[in-house]
Amino acid sequence: MSTTQPASPATPQKPAPHFPEQVTGMYILAKALKNVGIDTMYGLVGIPVTEFAYIAQDLGIRFIGFRHEQQAGMAAATHGYLTKTPGVLLTVSSLGFMNGLTATTNATVNCYPMIQISGSSVREPIDLDQGTYEGLDQLNVAKGLVKAAYRVNKPEDIPTAVARAYRAAVSGRPGGVYLDITTPCLGAIMDHADADKLFFQPVDPAPAQIPSPQAVERAVSLLASAKRPAILLGKGAAYAQIDDKIKHLIESTGIPFYPMSMAKGLMPDNHPLSAISARSTIMEQADVVMLVGARLNWLLSRGHGKWNPDGKFIQLDIDPEEIDCNRPIAAPVVGDLESSVDAIIAALAGKKLAMDPAWVSGIQSESKVKNAKFLERLEPQTVPMTHWSALGSVKKVLEANPDVILVNEGANTLDDTRDSVDMFLPRHRIDCATWAIMGMGMGSAIGAAVASGKSVVAVEGDSAFGFSGMDFSTICRYKLPVTVCIFNNGGIYNGIGVNLSHDGDPAPTTLDVKARYDKLGDAFGATTYYVTTPAELFTALTEAVASKKPCLIDVQLAADSGKESGHIGYLNPASLIDVTV
Ligand code: ADP
Ligand code: MG
Repeated sequence: MSTTQPASPATPQKPAPHFPEQVTGMYILAKALKNVGIDTMYGLVGIPVTEFAYIAQDLGIRFIGFRHEQQAGMAAATHGYLTKTPGVLLTVSSLGFMNGLTATTNATVNCYPMIQISGSSVREPIDLDQGTYEGLDQLNVAKGLVKAAYRVNKPEDIPTAVARAYRAAVSGRPGGVYLDITTPCLGAIMDHADADKLFFQPVDPAPAQIPSPQAVERAVSLLASAKRPAILLGKGAAYAQIDDKIKHLIESTGIPFYPMSMAKGLMPDNHPLSAISARSTIMEQADVVMLVGARLNWLLSRGHGKWNPDGKFIQLDIDPEEIDCNRPIAAPVVGDLESSVDAIIAALAGKKLAMDPAWVSGIQSESKVKNAKFLERLEPQTVPMTHWSALGSVKKVLEANPDVILVNEGANTLDDTRDSVDMFLPRHRIDCATWAIMGMGMGSAIGAAVASGKSVVAVEGDSAFGFSGMDFSTICRYKLPVTVCIFNNGGIYNGIGVNLSHDGDPAPTTLDVKARYDKLGDAFGATTYYVTTPAELFTALTEAVASKKPCLIDVQLAADSGKESGHIGYLNPASLIDVTV
């Protein structure tokens, strides 16, 4: 007999446990950036942000990896300046953060929008000063040096923090923002579905700020009453991207304009109303000067010195605290430049200007004479090359390629290039700007090439190049259309300094006049040139720009070309040492 065993009751099939898909703080951060439109990030990875960079790249954010964080930061700042959206810099904790902070602070000083995102170590041992891996109280270090600084401790706060950082960077006076994301926050886990609910689009992150009608009327009355008015354009005006309105303002009034260094090209340098060669005349004789996105800071003698003591200023600026900063401003117009220039143009309609026609014709004839005289400096084909004979060739090539962005730093190399090379298009000149710092060259060249897709030529003093030279390799790795010209006179200012102790060491200003910088380019696969004559430089630079590939030109100058501090030798405490002896 067979017994049929009752079938054991089937073990009820438990539904498989449902773990919702989970994501980390790193993923939320990348997604939040992408959500607000960030498409590029500059940085240098390591603990604790490496995986974050991989995730961001995977989500379609272009990652440009550097050899030094300061250069990545300079790239982000330039990206911000050219696009009016925040450039993003990614750094590791402690030293990486500190290296990058230099650039974020420089961006703040220069009104460039950028966000430095740094990983930071676990809070508790930092707060108790117990010592931990890369432990530094980064938020508090950054606070005094940037426009805004925030720390994020929880992954659900990341989208809010990114939106706030974005707003802080681009609204009002643009600047650098620091976002501190702790290691636990980067690694924290959330349900994907919950995370997805956090993202939002910030509405109107850089709102228009309309100037008051009274301020506009006051400014326009003053401008209209001027016999010898001038318009001074700063890089705030270039940043605002209101090129046609600026052109209209100038051409419809016929008032001469003077561009600050990075505003060169906003109106063509050779425009009939350009007073670029009549700076002293503007300062000494103008009775009303309208500052448009320019600060009356040290670059303009803070409104004193040569300036006409009876002259009056109109200032168009977004920052009310800038007004009266160095000299009383008779007619402040506080607002965003687009709104302010629109309002001024509208209020000027139908107003008769009291401008003396002899003022403009005087500036034009003075400019004609000075320009012709200046060109004579560039003509001699001096060999070994001086800054001037080299710049004669650079000028020809760049003026034949006006859409190339010029990056420029150094002392004599900065001043002489600015004075020699005319610019014809807005935002095509990027230099060491308000702080007059060295060490922005490779970073800014990379940021400019990446943000604009255009070719870039960096004209660098040999000392200036030294601060960022290793990031020439980044230009090569990303195959960017950047040509770097190194003006090698073998030193800071020049290569003929004398060590007063005669102990055989180089003088403090001495570098390497025989260095072959072109070989440094060879190491990374660039096309390189070593040139000793203006004709060779002309050919090399023409070819390099046409190639749209990474190129490096060692421009061999005479060691005695260049003077102490370029144009600003007067800032030295005392000229006890004549480095030219
Ligand atoms: P420059 O060195 O060329 O004179 P600065 O950087 O010193 O230029 O000055 C730029 C000025 O422009 C700053 O005072 C800044 O507040 C202002 N600015 C920047 N962006 C705008 C804008 N969109 N609207 C109005 N003012 C602006
Ligand atoms: Mg030098």
